[in-house]
Amino acid sequence: MKDTSISPAARPDTGLHAGADTGPDSGTEIDTGLGAERPMKPAMWRGWRRRCPSCGSGPMLRGYLKVRDECPVCNEALHHHRADDGPAYLTILIVGHLMAPMILIAYTTWRPEPMVLASVFSVGCVALSLYLLPRLKGLIVAIQWSRRMHGFGNA
Ligand SMILES: [Zn+2]
Repeated sequence: MKDTSISPAARPDTGLHAGADTGPDSGTEIDTGLGAERPMKPAMWRGWRRRCPSCGSGPMLRGYLKVRDECPVCNEALHHHRADDGPAYLTILIVGHLMAPMILIAYTTWRPEPMVLASVFSVGCVALSLYLLPRLKGLIVAIQWSRRMHGFGNA
């Protein structure tokens, strides 16, 4: 039995409290934000998988697109995000630039019936958009968390 080998200091919430001896009103909070590294690439991968950018195990989203106020596993605050139109913009950017040449290639190669072409690409466009949108939202929230934007650094 090696359960006793797990230190309570390994828990992220206790780690945060350990450095907060001076209290929340001390005005030195901004300086303490520089302590923990937040590398962007692992955070982006966690966000793409719709996981908490801090711990990687808690789900970031509730339902399809709603970002949780805080991570249910590590209690990292996630409500600071300002993803706004970013995920939709990136989705349109990617899907549009894929669909336009693919329609041209499909038309010149196979000359399908117009209704066949329209049906296939409508379904494909919607499916790809629904796939990308929550993942790109997780990616953008993770970048904002990693770069300490919009209040993520004050926590
Ligand atoms: Zn977490």
